[in-house]
Amino acid sequence: MGLLALAGPTRIERNQRSCINCRRCTDICPHQLPVHQKARIKSAECSGCMDCTRVCPVTGALQLKTKGLPVWSQLRLGLVIVGLFIALVYTARITGHWQSSLSPYEFHMRLVEIESSD
Ligand code: SF4
Ligand code: SF4
Repeated sequence: MGLLALAGPTRIERNQRSCINCRRCTDICPHQLPVHQKARIKSAECSGCMDCTRVCPVTGALQLKTKGLPVWSQLRLGLVIVGLFIALVYTARITGHWQSSLSPYEFHMRLVEIESSD
């Protein structure tokens, strides 16, 4: 996962002009990465949890970015992940590659639960 994260195009980026050096991002990082000192987080340990962007008090100072795409908010990222998961599951089911002991009814109820948990 770490190697994939390093090779991927998505990074936490800090705008050095607007950053006020409060260190909240570094303090909350579960992997003790020195976020407040870096322009871009390039670390196999960054899980992309976005805790650092959540606590940053300055709008736009710290963002999760992917080249060529709009800035990721936690909501947008969550929706894309759930959408990809559902698309993958349905594609596997339609093409006959989904092997599960879950009945179609139980599967449907689980999806309803996930979708209503917002
Ligand atoms: S996204 Fe999470 S793991 Fe990565 S630098 Fe921010 S707080 Fe640390
Ligand atoms: S939380 Fe935001 S403003 Fe504070 S040091 Fe980190 S990037 Fe800069």
